[in-house]
Amino acid sequence: MKIRVGHLYPDYLNIYADRGNIAVLAARARARGHELDVLAIGMRDPVPIGTVDLFYVGGGQDREQELVAHDLVAKAEPLREAVERGAAFLAVCGGYQLLGRSYLDGAGNELSGIGLLPLHTVAGDRRMIGDVLLDCDWAGETLAGFENHAGRTILDAGAEPLGRVVAGFGNDGASGYEGCRYRQAYGTYLHGPLLPRNPWLADRLLEAALAHAGVEERLEPLADELEREAHAVSAARARSRGGRY
Ligand code: GLN
Repeated sequence: MKIRVGHLYPDYLNIYADRGNIAVLAARARARGHELDVLAIGMRDPVPIGTVDLFYVGGGQDREQELVAHDLVAKAEPLREAVERGAAFLAVCGGYQLLGRSYLDGAGNELSGIGLLPLHTVAGDRRMIGDVLLDCDWAGETLAGFENHAGRTILDAGAEPLGRVVAGFGNDGASGYEGCRYRQAYGTYLHGPLLPRNPWLADRLLEAALAHAGVEERLEPLADELEREAHAVSAARARSRGGRY
């Protein structure tokens, strides 16, 4: 099966090698006999309707976000529609912020987001940096990663967070939550990249993408020895970092 991936702004939003998440998805799909067909969707490129199974957008600093924000808003409609139809979406950090309604950046510019996730973000004075560990009760799993952001993301009442912060700052350093999920769209501050040390989320995204492509498949587990080790190292680093903001 070919899984079609739409990679938004690969030239602008790729801080901390966020693009590595795509490599993980490709390797894990290949191990199950599927192939990833990655389409770069850059400035002024149209969003294909109905044919992309999984969208991905990485992180970037305020400057890069400002460069793409306007173009992304022009893509809002087809992206929202795709998610409503069950397409998967992973958005990291700067990309995550732009999936919300707005981002008030460090210079006081308010960037419009696409309102796909029920949240907004406001930049604060201190950056929130370090290893993070999340408990994702809804999935019975944990996520380990690294955060580095000035933005404080505030979820709307009733919005589903990606996880509960065990160690680290999370969305805003105060709520005790990190990220947001809506249908098969997941937004998070976790870089690293995120998927090499959290393969369960990669598989969940692949299963959602396959379902969007019309294939209901429970992916066979992989050995994942290195992945488990990477997760454990990262989780231990987060725990030793101790308290929150
Ligand atoms: N510019 C955003 C912030 O600092 C996002 C940063 C990032 O993607 N690392 O909050």
